[in-house]
Amino acid sequence: MTVDTTVTVRVPAKVNLQLAVGPRREDGFHALVNVFHAVSLFDEVTVKAASPRQPRALAALTATGQSESHLARVPLDETNLAARAAALLAEETGSGFPVDIHLDKHIPVAGGMAGGSADAAAALVACDRLWGCGLSRERLLDLAARLGSDVAFGLVGDTAVGTGRGELLDPMASPARYRWVFALSTRGLSTADVFGEYDRLRPDAPDPRLDPALEKALADGDAEALGRSLSNDLQPAALSLLPELQRTLDAGRSAGAIGALVSGSGPTCAFLIGGGGEDAAVVAEREAGVVAALRATGLCEQVVAADGDVPGTTVL
Ligand code: ATP
Repeated sequence: MTVDTTVTVRVPAKVNLQLAVGPRREDGFHALVNVFHAVSLFDEVTVKAASPRQPRALAALTATGQSESHLARVPLDETNLAARAAALLAEETGSGFPVDIHLDKHIPVAGGMAGGSADAAAALVACDRLWGCGLSRERLLDLAARLGSDVAFGLVGDTAVGTGRGELLDPMASPARYRWVFALSTRGLSTADVFGEYDRLRPDAPDPRLDPALEKALADGDAEALGRSLSNDLQPAALSLLPELQRTLDAGRSAGAIGALVSGSGPTCAFLIGGGGEDAAVVAEREAGVVAALRATGLCEQVVAADGDVPGTTVL
């Protein structure tokens, strides 16, 4: 048997097609209905065997890829979600040896696209392979759910609905592919702050429910209907904390996006450009108009396009 000394795992970002937020539960989490859709903005997590004489399980953690302002928000120590994933796997399996972890980040940091959670999912899969643990998919999903509400989705990808606090995943039928544009902000928004603002604005939140119109739009591969049914209960809270996001959303909509919303807790804004059975040239022209309009606002640090859905963690 050959033993890997380096393993790289690619993992996608997510956008929420619906994020319905219920009341805060007794454990402090909110009841959620969270429709995750994996898009082709990828982080790559590489784990490498470090010297066995290293006193610590995490020998080194480095990050490249994103802009300086984004990388500055990534902790390069044991608190990084990728390092916590490696530590949990070692603790649970009793295996493992010191590793260097490298994150090549293309998912915006603190942008509402679950970049940290994605890295945790990738690190679980990479260390499982490097250390030869051979955990079943169910065990990996269980560890992922313990690391955070969005981590399990990084493993499965495609389109899925999360319930509970978002970690109980069921795949959703979504046969079509869609084109998206994302407007990244120079600012980060803390997920905890956005939920806090949500509680202030919506103390009477009802129990969350999956939107049947969204389910049907996805099953039919109907881009226009999907655009109409995108929804995010956290959007008013994100806009309250960062009002300029409204101008970003308006600019993309006016330029022809068929749907627009804040992604997760923000501040990244997501624009549905088209897809399903639409003519590719029409979609490309619409995309160029939306990208130009967003850049012209001067509010976006980067404007990037991506496709969805795409699979979850992939060993390269
Ligand atoms: P979510 O959509 O799951 O709420 P997010 O996309 O808004 O998350 P992340 O990119 O996951 O935000 O980062 C949130 C915070 O997590 C960062 O500000 C950073 O302090 C911390 N963090 C820990 N590990 C990572 C990681 N591997 N990549 C990015 N941030 C990380």
